[in-house]
Amino acid sequence: MKPAVLVVDVIHDFVHGKFGGERAASILPSLRGLLDYARGGGIPVVYVTDSHLSVGDAEFEIWGEHAVEGSEGAEIVGEVKPGEGDFRILKRRYSCFYATGLDALLRELDVDAVVLTGLVTDICIQHTAADAFFRGYDVLIPRDCVEAVSDEAQEGSLGYMERMYGAEITSSEELMGGLLLGGGSG
Ligand code: ZN
Repeated sequence: MKPAVLVVDVIHDFVHGKFGGERAASILPSLRGLLDYARGGGIPVVYVTDSHLSVGDAEFEIWGEHAVEGSEGAEIVGEVKPGEGDFRILKRRYSCFYATGLDALLRELDVDAVVLTGLVTDICIQHTAADAFFRGYDVLIPRDCVEAVSDEAQEGSLGYMERMYGAEITSSEELMGGLLLGGGSG
């Protein structure tokens, strides 16, 4: 396994802003630990974040204005700022793969498995898991590094991704205990 860690939408609007709250912020300590571990092990870390056009973005019809390009709401939160060597990709839809350079980047890095972290479990994480599965990547999801607005949404989505995409639902502790580095060819 040659994994990369994807950090999805850990931006102001989703953590502390209009869609944020305690549940969203609760993932930050685990996520930070996992990211430090990944960087230390030479595992690529890729931040993929919402960056919407200021006018007329199709998502605004559903959610209202959020994560406008260049605004504070679209900035990665201070608790998990990208480190040296991390990658950054912008997206305009739920899936990190849709109309972005993510797939090309992962292939250039010889990655064959994605660890999905961030927000929101049943929206951007779930759509990204689908697109990762369609493209032949293994999907791993540490449950303490993703969140939704309720336990029902969280558990329902994790179960769905496990059944539909063969996602391995795990924890940051298990990943750092060897799952992430073990078994791979480097
Ligand atoms: Zn959005």
